[in-house]
Amino acid sequence: MKVGVLGAGQLARMLALAAHPLGLKVAAYDPALESCATAVCAVTRAAFEDAVQLQAFCAAHDVVTFDFENVPVAALAVLNNQSALRPNLQALEAAQDRISEKQLFERLGIPTPRYFEISTVAQLRSAIVQLNGCGILKTRRLGYDGRGQVRIEPSSDAALAFSSIACAPAILEQFVPFSYEVSQIAVRAISGEIRFYPLIANVHRAGVLHLSCSPWASTKLSGQAQAHVAKLLLELDYVGVLAVEFFVVEGELVANEMAPRVHNSGHLTIEGNVTSQFENHLRAIADLPLGSTDARGMSCMLNFLGEMPDPRAFLSGSGAHWHDYGKTARSGRKVGHVTICASNKTELLERAEALGVNALHALLEQAENA
Ligand code: AMP
Repeated sequence: MKVGVLGAGQLARMLALAAHPLGLKVAAYDPALESCATAVCAVTRAAFEDAVQLQAFCAAHDVVTFDFENVPVAALAVLNNQSALRPNLQALEAAQDRISEKQLFERLGIPTPRYFEISTVAQLRSAIVQLNGCGILKTRRLGYDGRGQVRIEPSSDAALAFSSIACAPAILEQFVPFSYEVSQIAVRAISGEIRFYPLIANVHRAGVLHLSCSPWASTKLSGQAQAHVAKLLLELDYVGVLAVEFFVVEGELVANEMAPRVHNSGHLTIEGNVTSQFENHLRAIADLPLGSTDARGMSCMLNFLGEMPDPRAFLSGSGAHWHDYGKTARSGRKVGHVTICASNKTELLERAEALGVNALHALLEQAENA
């Protein structure tokens, strides 16, 4: 079976690596000059708006999926083989616009921060007052990894804040005083079968994922997260992996956003779980039986931004797995990650500390005390 991936970044690269043992043939499509999936699969370089190329690429594959959820829906809506898109356009469309995403959460009874739709500075000023001066202004579309976002404080100048996001259509969200963040990753098969990965606890720095750790063993939060994500999967008639990020506020989950694709916080499933998120996504979209999502022990993942550190220090540690995406170094860019695996929490903390991954201890303490 031939799988086409729209977007050829590290997610496509890890999907292609997982596809080979399954006997699936992966190719990717990306407008960028340099795509890190090129090392492991064929990549067509063309614009997402190029209807002719996009149609040809999709027609040449049995199933088409995404490493990047911001492929223009208009370009995909005209494709002949709509049923080959997994997940479907409805899911993609809901996740591309922060307002429709929030409306979907509300419709399904999934708690989400208070928000206001912003098109003008006057609307922003009025929304800031209603949120007592504290919020986060985000572009409705195309924001990721903290880009297209600005923190609003009582002293902020509304006009300046709006111009810093190029006055693009936006959303002002209430600033959520969360204890920590978690993500729930799930996979749904064409048959409707759903499997959940254990809950993952996350630390972000400047809006970008820094550290993930799983299984995060809170039975109450896992139950809530699974119930919320199951509603989304059913509503969207979803096929493949879906990730939802939540804030933990006074022991309850508040949904931040969803990603209709494999997710950075799930990279630790490659070594930390019986079947990785990449393999299960492929199994789901290729109509193969899903694999076990069970954790093999406990693991954590540290992202590398900008440039890769010297691998020797990490590789000499026990249970460390190195992932270099082969990208050119650039400030703030996700260039790789390391996953540390252990049989239990004590061992994981020891291994992480030996490698200088100090944020893990703080995360686990924060989460336990929340
Ligand atoms: P996002 O791109 O919306 O996932 O935001 C990236 C990160 O910024 C989140 O993971 C949080 O750490 C932080 N953040 C985003 N929205 C809020 C919010 N409404 N309140 C507090 N922190 C937020």
